[in-house]
Amino acid sequence: AAEIFYDDDADLSIIQGRTVAVIGYGSQGHAHALSLRDSGVDVRVGLPEGSKSRPKAEAEGLRVVTPADAAAEADLIMILVPDHVQRRVYAESVEPNLQDGDALFFAHGFNIRFGYIKPPAGVDVAMVAPKGPGHLVRREFENGKGVPALVAVEQDASGQALQLALSYAKAIGGARAGVIKTTFAEETETDLFGEQAVLCGGASALITAGFETLTEAGYQPEIAYFECLHELKLIVDLMYEGGIAKQRWSVSDTAEYGDYTSGPKVIDQHVKDAMKDVLARIKDGSWAAEFIADQDAGAPDFKRRRAEAEAHPIEETGRKLRGLMSWVSTSDDYTGTAARS
Ligand code: NDP
Ligand code: MG
Ligand code: MG
Repeated sequence: AAEIFYDDDADLSIIQGRTVAVIGYGSQGHAHALSLRDSGVDVRVGLPEGSKSRPKAEAEGLRVVTPADAAAEADLIMILVPDHVQRRVYAESVEPNLQDGDALFFAHGFNIRFGYIKPPAGVDVAMVAPKGPGHLVRREFENGKGVPALVAVEQDASGQALQLALSYAKAIGGARAGVIKTTFAEETETDLFGEQAVLCGGASALITAGFETLTEAGYQPEIAYFECLHELKLIVDLMYEGGIAKQRWSVSDTAEYGDYTSGPKVIDQHVKDAMKDVLARIKDGSWAAEFIADQDAGAPDFKRRRAEAEAHPIEETGRKLRGLMSWVSTSDDYTGTAARS
């Protein structure tokens, strides 16, 4: 069973004795920087001149300097820029300013696990990864609660890296909920697998296939949208609250019997074999290499796939139907598929 740490297992004074740089002020960055500050930690935010995030961080009264200056001042550097830009930010701004005794922190293991960042031996390398988006992490902290987090130590130069990571996790509220110990390899491989095979890739493909099956059989797209996409939220909410069992308890016996008889026919051994292939390509680094090569080339494959997906008829149907449902709203920053490119 997993090793879980709580507030009593962590010493806040450790992180309060450090000088922390949070590089990036997006989803995770804003939550970490603000909650560290509110926990009495000396924190500065590292952002390039002209960064869109700068005014937001400054409006909160945080001190904002360049990533290089932040890394130079700090003895603990948390990297919270997007995973595919971390390698460059590290090489340009962080590595030249690392000293023995410093700590390098991440919220996802991607760049360490696949070797895109190779820190020097005298530095602690650890992870504090909240299991939720930054805005939830911050909201729960402000409510006196917290979002569970993962901690991992890749390199323990000081011999105290785990205690340091737990102290950091406590300062952002994670230890109020529970902090689970993992490794960079386990966190990275399972995170990528979950999002590719189940949460993002699997669910999107399942919904699309269902919508196509119904519309190709002559059913109206509006009806197909309700049955295959819209109602999924009810099902997922039930699973979130009480597992798959609560979902089966809540739906009709008709739906439950159909679940048992048809589910395994659709998601069959072939799907599990494909999942094993996905996992193998994550573990051997070939999926990461493909992603990074495309990003380095200006993301042509990524952009082409995004444009193709956004042109699918399910999106047009959805726009129309969501307009009929006053209670369905999008999150603040989302401007709709057509506006993004
Ligand atoms: P975001 O995409 O929200 O980060 C954007 C921030 O990075 C902005 O402040 C942006 O500045 C800044 N940034 C972009 N490029 C650079 C650069 N070259 N130099 C300096 N700053 C830059 O990232 P997330 O918070 O989503 O992810 C950060 C880390 O946290 C990742 O490792 C991710 O895997 C992990 N994580 C994310 C979770 C989430 O829910 N989002 C959950 C758990 C972990 P600007 O405003 O100028 O663009
Ligand atoms: Mg992920
Ligand atoms: Mg139904």
